Amino acid sequence: MSAAPVHVEELQAYAADVAGCTRCRLAQGRTQVVFGSGSPHADLMLVGEAPGFHEDKQGVPFVGQAGKLLDRLLAGIGMTRADVFVANVLKCRPPGNRDPQPDEIEACESHLFRQIALIEPVVVATLGNFATKLLSGRQVGITRVHGQEQKTTIGGRDVLLYPIYHPAAALYTPAMSKVLESDFVRLPELLGRALTPPAPPVEPELTLVAAATPAEQLGLF
Ligand code: URA
Repeated sequence: MSAAPVHVEELQAYAADVAGCTRCRLAQGRTQVVFGSGSPHADLMLVGEAPGFHEDKQGVPFVGQAGKLLDRLLAGIGMTRADVFVANVLKCRPPGNRDPQPDEIEACESHLFRQIALIEPVVVATLGNFATKLLSGRQVGITRVHGQEQKTTIGGRDVLLYPIYHPAAALYTPAMSKVLESDFVRLPELLGRALTPPAPPVEPELTLVAAATPAEQLGLF
């Protein structure tokens, strides 16, 4: 619990700003900006790639199948979405779920850096290649660096960067899913916490605010 209350308000104000972002072409095709969701005090931030179809419709990151896997992985370490903050490299859905383009990442990256500066997480887990390459500043692929934490500075803040496989990739590759699981269970140790006994699976509360406005999404924090 590190963020001062003033940061919560700043984060809310920032979400409201970003809701109207027109920095790149993705603004034209989106239903809404998917700013991110979870606790503004989170010690753990998880950063994915970009909203998909369901995320674009609901305004919440990771609500599809990959999100369900993420919820199960969190439950396995005794955490829920309410304990963490989940965001993406891109805040708007690329058409047809194509890969983010370099100019879109460049246009959007300062949103993520600002989120990190305001939330002040201890650990930033990057899910897959795009988040890992952006936040590590290195073009090394996730297969080589997953599970290897490294100290870095993001948004003026010292954090432990922890690359892991993207849950969507793990969904279709059982071997990758095992690796993701074993990397994921190290998170409590990296957060300096004891591993909490797994919680029984619960429906994430996030679905309740799925259609909320960005300001209301923040109410969920
Ligand atoms: N994949 C992502 O990277 N982010 C989402 O929000 C959903 C799927």
